[in-house]
Amino acid sequence: MQVPLLDLKAQYATIKDEMLAAVKDVLDSQICIHGPKVAKLEEKIASISDCKYAVGVSSGTDAILSALMSLEIGPGDEVITTPFTFFATVGSIVRVGAKPVFVDIDTKTFNINPSLIEAVITDKTKAIMPVHLFGQMADMDPIMEIAKKHDLFVIEDAAQSISSTYKGRKAGSIGDVGCFSFFPSKNLGGIGDGGMAVCNDQQLYERLFVMRNHGGQDKYHNKLVGGNFRLDAIQAAALLVKVPHLDQWSAARRANADYYNERFSGTSVTTPYITPDCVSIYNQYTIRVAGRDALLEHLKSHEIGCAVYYPLSLHLQECFSSLGYKPGDFPVSEQASSEVLALPIYPELSDEMKDFVVETALSFSKQTQKS
Ligand SMILES: *Cc1c(COP(=O)(O)O)cnc(C)c1O
Repeated sequence: MQVPLLDLKAQYATIKDEMLAAVKDVLDSQICIHGPKVAKLEEKIASISDCKYAVGVSSGTDAILSALMSLEIGPGDEVITTPFTFFATVGSIVRVGAKPVFVDIDTKTFNINPSLIEAVITDKTKAIMPVHLFGQMADMDPIMEIAKKHDLFVIEDAAQSISSTYKGRKAGSIGDVGCFSFFPSKNLGGIGDGGMAVCNDQQLYERLFVMRNHGGQDKYHNKLVGGNFRLDAIQAAALLVKVPHLDQWSAARRANADYYNERFSGTSVTTPYITPDCVSIYNQYTIRVAGRDALLEHLKSHEIGCAVYYPLSLHLQECFSSLGYKPGDFPVSEQASSEVLALPIYPELSDEMKDFVVETALSFSKQTQKS
């Protein structure tokens, strides 16, 4: 039996007619960028995120980039973040000329450890950028408290966590700005690249709004220096078809996670830890195991898709070597890189598929225990 890590065709099959009609609408209108579909999507995403404002942009990366630019974070500034995240979080900080300052992660949640933040705050610190990894939000209360005390911005990288909650509050709604990605593998994925920035402050909204179109308030009258961060209408149209299904798809991922959790309990597999404060949308179902690489090969040889997010902590990336970090600086993150493995969790998995994943993984750990 083949079990891919993600099967976008399975989801597409359930909404194919609506998707084709939505794309045809855009083609017939020939309004290809921004326009009514993008405006409607912005309204929907603001609403499901409990935010006043939303600005559609070209990707999750560009949402982060335009958030940093709109908050005037640049050369000479420092941004505190996690080394255990997708590259774009930290790449964006470097691209605006600011310096990323890492703190280690929490052992159980893989999210930034708030108790380590204050020690690295300097007079150059401008912002904290927590990442809500794998679908679960970071511990936002202490982060917001520290930000308030030291007058720092908080930018939520919520690319993997749209509509997930922390103490009943939605991802993206707690900090100054929240950034979402509509990359096809995210829980709300487009048919290409797309992203969105959400916020509650009108002035910040206005800056984000002009930033995505070269900073121009009116055509050819530029208030700021922005970029081309525009969102295609065809992406908005496809996403508008998917939005009404998002909660149900996330619930199906949670049900799959519950099933795995039960089957793996009492075994050598450490299942994901979701704090009582959070409801995860399980963009990934990430287990920890000793001998991870061997298990990965074993699963792949049985045609089960699995992947390592992330194999190299960002403080050890070659392109960031000038920051001066070295192995051992963030031991929790480094250990996670060597132990994590993401298993298939997408909503359309059948019971047979889940059984096969569990049995294949467990047969392997029994083998290794015997030998
Ligand atoms: C996917 C992702 C991004 C970037 O989103 P893109 O739409 O691919 O540019 C940023 N941060 C995290 C944590 C992500 O998972």
